[in-house]
Amino acid sequence: MTTKLYYEDTSIKTWDSEILTVAEKDSHFYVTLQETAFYPEGGGQPSDRGKIAGIDIVDVQVINEEIVHVLTRKPELGKVYCELDWERRFDHMQHHSGQHLLSAVCRELFDANTLSFHLGTDYVTIDVDRKEFSKDQVNSLEQLANQYIFENRKLHTYFITSEQLKELPVVKLPKVTENIRIVEMEGIEYNPCGGTHVRQTGEIGMIKLLKMEKQKSFTRIYFKCGFRALRDFSESLAIITRLSSKYSVGRDDILDRINRSEQNQKHLLDENEKLKEEMALFEMKEILSENNGILITREFSNKSLKELQLLAAKITSKRDAVVLFGSVLENKAVLYQNGVIEVNCGQFFKQNLGVYGGKGGGNDKSAQAGFPNSESLAGFLTFAELELKKLTVD
Ligand SMILES: [Zn+2]
Repeated sequence: MTTKLYYEDTSIKTWDSEILTVAEKDSHFYVTLQETAFYPEGGGQPSDRGKIAGIDIVDVQVINEEIVHVLTRKPELGKVYCELDWERRFDHMQHHSGQHLLSAVCRELFDANTLSFHLGTDYVTIDVDRKEFSKDQVNSLEQLANQYIFENRKLHTYFITSEQLKELPVVKLPKVTENIRIVEMEGIEYNPCGGTHVRQTGEIGMIKLLKMEKQKSFTRIYFKCGFRALRDFSESLAIITRLSSKYSVGRDDILDRINRSEQNQKHLLDENEKLKEEMALFEMKEILSENNGILITREFSNKSLKELQLLAAKITSKRDAVVLFGSVLENKAVLYQNGVIEVNCGQFFKQNLGVYGGKGGGNDKSAQAGFPNSESLAGFLTFAELELKKLTVD
């Protein structure tokens, strides 16, 4: 049976041990050790990483009550040097212990029990059986949890019997009946748990609540502890600093500045819309004065489809005409008419676009289409003009 060094001292980072067994499966090697400080996945805490004899560990699991280390290469039997990925382990210890503390404060302040715990590389959450937290309640929860951190309360871990368990005010019953491991956070709680924890609450560093997500019957609390919270703070500060410098204002004025900027933009868009209307009106008059016929065709180098549609609609509202416009800017075409000829615009486009690689459609009074390039647009416009001319000859 392997000696569990992580229960003797959670701060062990390197040690010598002996390989007991090696088994190969699916090009991975399953290794057991005489002594291990590699924590296997369990109790919501992910497994440790590190190296055995310089070979990477990709997983640590309890299989048939044995702690099995999964390696990428086969190690030699005998004495080996073991190294724990301490950064990863300490992150787990900070968050696992932080979870104990946060759950304890949820119970103390709101009588809310923790239903589950997720500790991943992307996010960390607890689900608590309370539907809602007000802003003040979130603040007091965060405040008290951090108060306990700053008081640097000791964490004691020890094994007890089921008889001794009856004497302890544990927060939940253990899943095992023997070798019951208790994690006592001084003056806060007695919790049966097999995970790895920090030695004092001060080592959690801090608990920062990020988001309270309301679910049907519970609340999911997103939080970060210790170094993760510090990294988050640095990243957030970098964003605020960039925004502050971009808008040349202090952080308290950034939102006001963005709101003002949005209002200005809206104002400019409204102005732009009005100017386009006036422009279309002006162009309509110009086109009508230059062309007295029923068929009006023109190619524009710098107008969008939307502008063509606006102008064509204005012309057909003023005169009984057939309007065929092309946009070189977007390789698009529109056809508008107001009942002056027996042509359904949408059908005319659908029947003839294919030859020119165009795609589009519309209804009896208006249609629009897009083309792969300017040559196909020009080809279609020439063809359509000829066809429409035939139809508009009296
Ligand atoms: Zn624990």
